[in-house]
Amino acid sequence: MTRQEFLKIAAATAVSGSSMANAQEQNIRPRTPADDGFTDTPMQPAEVGPWHVHDPNRPHPKQITPASTPGGPPSDAIVLFDGKDLSQWYHRGRGANQGKQVDAGWKVENGYFEITRGFGDLLTREKFGDVQLHVEWSSPTAIDANSQGRGNSGVLLMTLYEIQVLDMWDNPTYADGGAGAIYGQWPPLETPAKRPGEWNVYDIVFEAPQFNGDQLAKPAFFTVFYNGVMVHNRKQSLGPMVYRQVAHYRPQPAEDSLMLQDHNSNPVRYRNIWIRRLAGYDQPQKA
Ligand code: MG
Repeated sequence: MTRQEFLKIAAATAVSGSSMANAQEQNIRPRTPADDGFTDTPMQPAEVGPWHVHDPNRPHPKQITPASTPGGPPSDAIVLFDGKDLSQWYHRGRGANQGKQVDAGWKVENGYFEITRGFGDLLTREKFGDVQLHVEWSSPTAIDANSQGRGNSGVLLMTLYEIQVLDMWDNPTYADGGAGAIYGQWPPLETPAKRPGEWNVYDIVFEAPQFNGDQLAKPAFFTVFYNGVMVHNRKQSLGPMVYRQVAHYRPQPAEDSLMLQDHNSNPVRYRNIWIRRLAGYDQPQKA
């Protein structure tokens, strides 16, 4: 039963004598119309919408079931990797397979998957725009390079907008290229790094860019928590990730795949990936 249904039943039964008695026994006063809100209150300003303050007719947020464990997917999440297989992902075909989607070939074991040489970047079959994304990753324990060569991967929203993945343990690199950076643009506010082999958590809110024909109508924004620490607070992206250049926008579709970067096949591991589409405030309730 949803909370909405519960409230409806509670309101309907509150008037009956027996439930009145129950309410009294439980020391709960029966519901009154005021419990649903008010229409004799001032109107909200235009930017809020056509609602009275405490408006009973304002759409109620959808009731969802939160995860039973921290970091788990809530009931409305799309689970992209649950530890078992990469069926929701593909690689871009090469050579004879140019232009085709090739089944994911990265190694899956022990509840995680590992970037594996010979396949290239990994992309979701489903496409997304505005999302909340949860990703866990760990750097390789074999240390065989420095700076951008050590445990480099990346989480690229819509295949283009990268939050960098990199081993940050005793591994100096340029600030806008560290883990948690909006790569090439904004360093993270802090670097709450973990050791190689330990699991890091990214919780990312991404607002997709919007275009009006060829013109940028709204840029992309990132909010990022890195191991629970806020490292970007609705930070505006300058455009798709580029190397040694200034980023700028180019028109693109409203949705595209989430992509995990193969950077010279550094064997970064990933697990527990889920995503939620974001629709904004005051969505009408679906029957
Ligand atoms: Mg990268």
